[in-house]
Amino acid sequence: MKHLDASDQAASDARELPDIEGFERCEAMASHEVTEFLADTERFDPREVDHLRRVAYQDRAGDIDEAGETVGDYLRGDVRLFKPSDDASRTPAERRARMEETLCHEVGHGVWERAPLAERARWTAMVHHWKKNGDEAHPWVSEYAKGGAEEHFCEAYAAFTRNDGTRALLRQIDSHRPPSRSLAAGVQRIRSAALTRQR
Ligand SMILES: [Zn+2]
Repeated sequence: MKHLDASDQAASDARELPDIEGFERCEAMASHEVTEFLADTERFDPREVDHLRRVAYQDRAGDIDEAGETVGDYLRGDVRLFKPSDDASRTPAERRARMEETLCHEVGHGVWERAPLAERARWTAMVHHWKKNGDEAHPWVSEYAKGGAEEHFCEAYAAFTRNDGTRALLRQIDSHRPPSRSLAAGVQRIRSAALTRQR
């Protein structure tokens, strides 16, 4: 763990941030950019990030598809990210965007792990309802969101927190759904339940 120095953030506000490892080999983001991204309180509640101990980038050969590029032990705050196999075909901006999405998605897993079971069940029921009623004719937040309730949450969380035009996608999806099944509202609900539970 390390502290941001005073130039990054007011000294009175010093936070423990995760160790960032291996990003010297990453073509998408530099270590300090990852630190700054995770420390951005406009994006994350600090409590959503403070439990992270390590974010490690690993240049692993093999068939890592777009969806399978991360593993980690979220409860222990250990996140590992792997270089996607198609990274070379991407532009620098695309690589950066995908890394930002992945970081947000991984923080989302930690939020999900900390959310009370009742809130997770509520989200899961919402996702099942959506599937059962043929709402899949409407756009999904991503293909990967189809992988289950938790992944769906992490993808919606990423769209919400990354907020580089991605909240507009959530609004578009939510426009097809009643407020009780709003993705954006559901994300915020689970976030606040996880934070309340955490402290
Ligand atoms: Zn995931």
